[in-house]
Amino acid sequence: MLKCREVVHQADALLAGELSRRERFVLQMHLIICRHCRRYIRQFEWLLRAIPRMHGSASEAEISSVLKAVENAEKSTFK
Ligand SMILES: [Zn+2]
Repeated sequence: MLKCREVVHQADALLAGELSRRERFVLQMHLIICRHCRRYIRQFEWLLRAIPRMHGSASEAEISSVLKAVENAEKSTFK
C-alpha cells in the first residue's frame, strides 16, 4: 500500500497526467481510504489552477501567501 509521503511525491505527476494506469490506480486506492491525501490533492489542484492567473508578475505578498497555504496544507495533512 502506498504511503502518504509517496502520494505527495506523485501529486504533480498525477495532476499533469503523467502517471501510468497502474500508478494512477494505486494512488486512487489510497485516496479512497485516506482523507488527508484527498484534501492535499484538492489543495494542490487549486494551487495549479491559481498559478496561471498570476501572469508572471506576482507580488511578494502573493508569493508568500501561496507558500504559506502550501505550508499549512502540509502541516495539517501530516501530523
Ligand atoms: Zn494518505
